[in-house]
This record gives sequence, structure tokens and C-alpha cells, in this order.
Amino acid sequence: MACVSFPYDAPVSQTLFDRASLVTPGGVNSPVRAFGAVGGTPRFMVSGAGPYLTDADGREYVDLVCSWGPMILGHAHPEVVAAVREAVARGTSFGTPGEGEVTLAEEIVARIAPVEQVRLVSSGTEATMSAIRLARGFTGRAKVVKFAGCYHGHVDALLAAAGSGLATFALPDTPGVTGAQTGDTVVLPYNDLDAVRAAFAAHPGEIACVITEASPGNMGVVPPGEGFNQGLKDLCAENGALYISDEVMTGFRTSKAGWYGVDGVAPDLMTFGKVMGGGFPAAAFGGRRDVMAHLAPEGPVYQAGTLSGNPVATAAGLAQLRLLDDAAYTKVDAVSAEIRALVTGALTKEGVAHRLQAASNMFSVFFTADEVRDYDDAKKQEAFRFTAFFHSMLADGVYLPPSAFESWFVSTAHDERAIERIAAALPAAARAAAEVTA
Ligand SMILES: *Cc1c(COP(=O)(O)O)cnc(C)c1O
Repeated sequence: MACVSFPYDAPVSQTLFDRASLVTPGGVNSPVRAFGAVGGTPRFMVSGAGPYLTDADGREYVDLVCSWGPMILGHAHPEVVAAVREAVARGTSFGTPGEGEVTLAEEIVARIAPVEQVRLVSSGTEATMSAIRLARGFTGRAKVVKFAGCYHGHVDALLAAAGSGLATFALPDTPGVTGAQTGDTVVLPYNDLDAVRAAFAAHPGEIACVITEASPGNMGVVPPGEGFNQGLKDLCAENGALYISDEVMTGFRTSKAGWYGVDGVAPDLMTFGKVMGGGFPAAAFGGRRDVMAHLAPEGPVYQAGTLSGNPVATAAGLAQLRLLDDAAYTKVDAVSAEIRALVTGALTKEGVAHRLQAASNMFSVFFTADEVRDYDDAKKQEAFRFTAFFHSMLADGVYLPPSAFESWFVSTAHDERAIERIAAALPAAARAAAEVTA
């Protein structure tokens, strides 16, 4: 097999995709779901149970996406489902404060020391957008530093590609975002403290904040180098800027206290989403009390949301967080290590050059022999090998993220049977990756 074939083995999904494409742009409500990077028919899922998803054609897959992270207890966990049922029966939205919001905020504050106060929102995008507005309002400065390859949701100011060289002003990444919206965004290469130092020198007194993924998972998994996050924090402190750690992906996943629980570097502001919503739209930003005090209605920086702190979403998130004790993280970490060993073993056996990079229980495979430290490194991989690997796994009942630039996610529900199914699918997928040509 030289090139990748897409066996037309999902006729019901294909019919749904055709219908969807008539009424929804590209047939999906979030672009990566369309399988654009790997080709073939996106699978329409109808149900999930533990580590498994079942598609509209009745095929079952071991799920290594877990809804891009949130389903850390597996699908339809009975205690989360029960909490949701109970909450729904009491009414789905009140537009008033409620106890669930308080309890969820207390749980977050109790877990993560740098978070003294927290504001609940409905998506990770809203969380990062609001955190940046707050940082600008608090400092009275305009510029935001971000890193190439870090994703912070579809916030206009953060949809900016890397310019080459140091401290270049970012050009918008997408039509619809104006130069004015990204004109105060400075995009720098990841893992490069010298570039950050140079940006502060080039814009004295102008940088409101540096925002970074706590450990990036949106260019594949590219952990911060030794001392990188601490260096960011120190440079921010020296220059009167805020250090914002985006933990939408890593929060409550990489440890009980997220990536903060791994590296112990205390940010000024943090953002959360994914795991904390238990599969519902719940997200948050929080941090230093003196900074959070600038938010309306306590302070002048406006921020609001009709469904913020929704009682069903907060009940789901709270039920999930309460189940995420030390034993749960030990389990997820062990599952991750077992699958990582199987993947790298299968690829090595077939002589496929690859780097398996992990950050706690998040991991991804880069089809390159070299270490990946930033977005430019990530883009050097042979992504066509991933495409062959992906479709072989899919055909054998394992659902991977449909892109070579995404983290894989596991859950406490991935048991021996699920892992055996992954192990059984890997040899053919590794062979496909070895044999494919660009
Ligand atoms: C997913 C993600 C976001 C955006 O969250 P949404 O809920 O999709 O808006 C922001 N930052 C990071 C690091 C993410 O992984």
C-alpha cells in the first residue's frame, strides 16, 4: 500500500455528513471534526460508554480523544449522569446566582493555590478573551505576548500567526480578523525566553500580559523546557506585566491542580475549561484577588454571560471534579504510560522515525526523528504518515484525533480490554505508516 485509501465503510455517517453539509458550513460545528487533515468520512457518534464511542453505522471505537479532554472519567459516568439528571429536574437555567456556582468555585479555589477568586464562563474561548481584557484593564497597557502554536480559542486578538524573527507584529491568521485586532499581539517562538526578553526590551511599559498554554497540547504535545514557565513569570514580574497560564486543556487533567500541580509556577491569572465542565459548556478564569477585583460588578472591567454558571453544567463539572481524586490521576497516568509504550513499540518495530512526547498523561506522536520544542519543529514532521496510521487505527476500531497536531487523551475508564484493542490495532497501523509515501 503506497497511498492512503479511505474505505467507504461508514455509509450512515456519510449520509449524515451530506445532510449536514447542506445546512452547516463544512458539515460540522468545529472545523477539526470534518477530518480535513486526514480525509475520509467523519464519524457521527451516537453514544459513548466508558472508553468507547459508537457511531451511526453501529461500529464501536476505543476513544482516544475523550471529547478533546473533558471525558477524563470516560463517557456517561454513572455519577456524573446522576448529578446531571438531578440538576435538570430542578430547572435548567435561572439567570440568578445559585449554590452550584459557589460550590464549583470553592472546589477550584481549594485545588489551585494561585486562584484566589474565579469567574465562571461557558467556553475556553470566553475564559481567555476575558482574562486578556482583564489584564489590559488592570495594567492599563495594550500589548499581549503569545506563542506560535499555542491555541487559546478563537479570540480575535489571539488568532495570529508567528512572524519570523523577534517581536514581529502578528498578521491575522484568518479573514475577518483585522490588523487592528492583532496589532497589539506579539507572537514569539515557544520555549524561547530570549525572544520574550527582547520583546519586553522592544516595548517598555507596553506589554499587559504574556499568555501561554501551561504545557502546550494544540501543536501536538510540546512541554515547556526546564525553567521556561518560571522564566516567563519572572520576566512578567520584572516588567509589570501579568503572567497568564492557559490551563483550559491541562487544568484538572495533568494533575489534581492541573499543570500548576506539576511545575508549581504560580501565574497571576489562569484559564480553565474542558475537564471542569464534565462534558458541558463550563469554563472559568481566575487568579490574584487584587486583579480579579477589577472585574464588574466589583470593578470597572466588564464581563458577563446569560448562561454563565449554568446549574446543569456546574453540577456536571462538580460531580466530575469530586471523582477526580489522587487515585483517579494515578489511574489515568498509568493508562497513558501503557498506551504510549505500545505505540512507540509498534512504530519502532516497523522502523518508523517518530517522537512520542508526553506531558503528564497527555501525549502525541510526531513523525520525525527530532525533538519537537516549538511550532516550527512540529511542522517538520511527516504528517502523511500520521494519515495512514490514523485510517488504519480507525478501520480497526480505535478513534484517534483526526490531525497529527493534536494531543491524545485517555480516561480512568480505559481498562485492559480497551488497551488490548489498541494493542491489536497498532501493528497494522505502524506498517501503514512505514509503507506510505508522501
Ligand atoms: C480548547 C482550548 C481553548 C478553547 O476552549 P473552547 O471551549 O473550545 O472555546 C483555549 N485554550 C486551550 C489551551 C484549549 O486547549
